[in-house]
Amino acid sequence: MDPALADDLARLPELLQSARDMAARAVAGSAERPVAALAPAPSRAPLPERGEGGTGALARFAERWAPGMSASAGPRYLGFVTGGVTPASLTGDWLTSAYDQNLSGDTGSWGAALERETVEWLARLFGLGEAHGGAFVTGATMSNTVGLAIAREWLGERLGVDVSRAGSAALGPVEVLSGSPHSSIGKALSVLGIGRDRLRRVPLLPGGREAVDVAALEAALAGLDGRPAIVVANAGTVNTVDFDDLRAIAALRERYGFWLHVDAAFGAFAALSPAHAPLVAGLDAADSVCVDLHKWLNVPYDAAVQFTRRRDLQVAVFHNDSPYLGPPTETPDFVHLTPENSRRMRALPVWFALTAYGRDGHREIVERNVTEARRLGSGIGELPALRLLAPVRLNVVCFTLAEKPTQERVAALARAVAASGEAFLTPTVYGGVPALRAAFSNWRTTEDDTRRVLAALATASAAL
Ligand SMILES: *Cc1c(COP(=O)(O)O)cnc(C)c1O
Repeated sequence: MDPALADDLARLPELLQSARDMAARAVAGSAERPVAALAPAPSRAPLPERGEGGTGALARFAERWAPGMSASAGPRYLGFVTGGVTPASLTGDWLTSAYDQNLSGDTGSWGAALERETVEWLARLFGLGEAHGGAFVTGATMSNTVGLAIAREWLGERLGVDVSRAGSAALGPVEVLSGSPHSSIGKALSVLGIGRDRLRRVPLLPGGREAVDVAALEAALAGLDGRPAIVVANAGTVNTVDFDDLRAIAALRERYGFWLHVDAAFGAFAALSPAHAPLVAGLDAADSVCVDLHKWLNVPYDAAVQFTRRRDLQVAVFHNDSPYLGPPTETPDFVHLTPENSRRMRALPVWFALTAYGRDGHREIVERNVTEARRLGSGIGELPALRLLAPVRLNVVCFTLAEKPTQERVAALARAVAASGEAFLTPTVYGGVPALRAAFSNWRTTEDDTRRVLAALATASAAL
């Protein structure tokens, strides 16, 4: 054994203790250190020929790279939709690596059974019934990709084509309809050989809404003359967190043949709060559902779940034919359900989070985030230099400069806020207007954080 490796084996408990100390400082500091790392990264070091051991690696990381880690897991990082890491989910994540189970199959480990229990808990959390099965994937992009792959197989079933064998081309041009699809839908269509250009945008409700106009969707479906289609409904758009009327869309299946995929990456969490649950009424009617876990569940990257009612079609797409893996059974191994083969036990941080805090604890995070988003929204409404672009429906505040909201000036505002170290926001374009979004989804964010973000925005916008 290499001496550095042998030494690490002998001193493993001390090494883990050092890592624990560093992690504890990192987590504690994420509420106070600058929210974004804006200095340039160090130049690259050459490949180490002789190792320095785990303690040496820790020291190198602390010196060269740790100073450049953002506080994206902290309470005032409001860019994209970024969750943090709750104490219990971090514990589960560490143990995932310590146990290092291969989740491709069931043989010789209870890991897959633990994942099935966790998927079932998630289904209940989001109001899905027994008919929905699911699996863990890396993020919502992959969850959307899996859902649309099953949709593609369903189109084949309707048209008498085995897409898994014959390929997407055998379907001819595919119709994909959506109101305000996330960019990952286009990417998924590209990956799946359906094609980005097949995504047809259906008109939205009037009044600056991002929710689909269900009457316009019906008209588009009627225009297909009976050809089966895929409808991507959106539950929580990234700019204004708008929700399609899922129940009304699902009801259209009585007259038209389509697969209903719902991208509920973070919007599904509305189901946790009685006040907001009506936004996702009808989710259970979906044929496939995408939910991210590294956003509002506050488990570490990378984790999402995908659900579907058609496990048979899922296995048709993803089964991995090999004598050593065995054929899919009644309860198929996860290797037959997602693009991955070998992978980590991604459920464990989720299992820890749900065991530690339960539905109630996670509801409290969701409700507090919504409260803080509204507080920021009303604060921005009172700042003369800023203007809200949409009502704060849930956890995202979409706003811009009151005067000359050009791309450059909005980017300058985002830079100034990041440079203050107090907060991090990301740009967007809403209704043709360059804008900023502040997305609340971190478990630690409190009223004090919102006041600090508001103060940073007031200073930066007044100085532009
Ligand atoms: C974030 C998001 C995605 C993509 O999620 P990743 O985890 O980054 O792959 C897809 N859809 C919606 C609505 C999202 O908010």
